[in-house]
Amino acid sequence: MSQPRPSDLKPCQQCGACCAHFRVSFYWADAPDLAPNFIEKLTPHIGCMSGSNQARPRCQALSGVIGEQVACSVYAQRPSPCKEVQAGDEKCRKARAAHGLPALNLG
Ligand code: SF4
Ligand code: SF4
Repeated sequence: MSQPRPSDLKPCQQCGACCAHFRVSFYWADAPDLAPNFIEKLTPHIGCMSGSNQARPRCQALSGVIGEQVACSVYAQRPSPCKEVQAGDEKCRKARAAHGLPALNLG
């Protein structure tokens, strides 16, 4: 795969690695509009995105092929951890490396 370029406006849409690397857990109150079928209950107050709490995580809301073209089917309702990861940050680098993708070069 070629190195994403600084001029690439939406690198996340060609990636999705962080949606298939971490357990995406959050307080219920953080995602009030998320459909219950996308949430796995962990404790009375904490849940995680379905599919993200397994040995090879992959959020159930992620569609497409990682490293090629992906989409989040609950983008507007996604919980806070999804908004915290930024393209090019440490979590991003970790997730991309785990999927054999080079670190983003955002210039
Ligand atoms: S934040 Fe990084 S790992 Fe996550 S989708 Fe965007 S480019 Fe990929
Ligand atoms: S809810 Fe969307 S942004 Fe968050 S991990 Fe799942 S696919 Fe990724």
